[in-house]
Amino acid sequence: MTATTSAPSPIVTARKQLADAVAHLGYDEGLHKYLLTPRRELHVAVPLKRDDGSLEVLGGYRVQHNTDRGPAKGGIRFSEHVDIDEVRALAMWMSWKCAVADIPFGGGKGGVTIDPRNYSPAELERVTRRYTAEIAPIIGPRHDIPAPDMNTGAQNMAWIMDTYSQLQGYSVPGVVTGKPLAVGGSLGRETATSAGVVHVTESVLRDRDETLAGKTVAVQGFGNVGSHAAAIFAAKGARITAVSDRYGALRCDDGLDVTRLFAHMAATGSVVDFEGADAISNEDLLALDVDILAPCAMENVLTAQTAPTVKARIVVEGANGPTTPEADAILQRNGVTVIPDILANAGGVVVSYFEWVQANQTYWWTAAEVAERLEQKMLIAYGGVAEVAKRDGLALRDAALVIAVQRVAEAHRLRGVYP
Ligand code: GLU
Repeated sequence: MTATTSAPSPIVTARKQLADAVAHLGYDEGLHKYLLTPRRELHVAVPLKRDDGSLEVLGGYRVQHNTDRGPAKGGIRFSEHVDIDEVRALAMWMSWKCAVADIPFGGGKGGVTIDPRNYSPAELERVTRRYTAEIAPIIGPRHDIPAPDMNTGAQNMAWIMDTYSQLQGYSVPGVVTGKPLAVGGSLGRETATSAGVVHVTESVLRDRDETLAGKTVAVQGFGNVGSHAAAIFAAKGARITAVSDRYGALRCDDGLDVTRLFAHMAATGSVVDFEGADAISNEDLLALDVDILAPCAMENVLTAQTAPTVKARIVVEGANGPTTPEADAILQRNGVTVIPDILANAGGVVVSYFEWVQANQTYWWTAAEVAERLEQKMLIAYGGVAEVAKRDGLALRDAALVIAVQRVAEAHRLRGVYP
């Protein structure tokens, strides 16, 4: 689904969320400004020699929002929607996400403005390598550690690791996470975000003495997060009654066969035309009468226009920033529980942290160890957020932001201002 034109820029949403948390915490203007302002921003040109010999110049960014709790951490996005304000918002959300999950990282994000569908694999390799070389002065295992995000995956991470290592003269597996296993990746990283989405959904249900068995789920977005979330929800007994991607949406009230859907996706590149399911619009998917709606694509999906149509009782944000502040207010009024992005999709960066720890120690854990430690981290994070929500009468998003902002502010206070 594409962003609607009337929706605010993600940075407007991110700043409003921070302002609300700061007001709740009673922080002064100086601290608010400090928490609002990215520590470092790099704009780069990414010249690309196309396969036909022509030269194209793309734009790229890396933003380090905050590093008080540790090195900057966050993915790299390849999308035609990437601009500096989107990257700023995503970097700020990473600071809060790492703080809610209580992992020792700050927040960063990067991106290249490119629609990868229009480029060959060889061109995308050259884009990845040149972009890495351009941001190399500010990344590193102790400075800023990239990872996959929209339209980038393990292969891109291997190229980033290789390019950075070539520049250093030795292998540096800790410079990037989400790598393939063969070059220092972690077991369980690819499915980690989705596993975390399911853990927090189960936690919300558990608080209501319910389970996933028999629950209906609509998954908006069938990329890395949405597709694996659908598979894990289904494996736990839920029924996936609708999915979508940027090409279209489909519905099957008896439940989609997710394994067959993966095969269809691999063969055709889209969920569209999957046998046995009915085509619906993306807007229809958001309004379906399901128990759980999982927006797993991009920002600004639940807006003032779409939020009033939501019938799901639980919205779990696999994507970053899918809900605008206006939509949040509408959903809250309508009694919909929103499990916020900075908690719901933190599983990815949690296992990125595990990968970084493993790479720095050159000692790798078993899949069971990764899965168990991920679940533990997610349950502790959820427990903390649920407790503050109850204590202060806040929605889960506000509670998560209050915890995150407080943790970052505390680290800042203890470290002080240099000089
Ligand atoms: N891009 C993912 C996110 O938005 C993962 C970031 C990471 O693992 O560093 O959380």
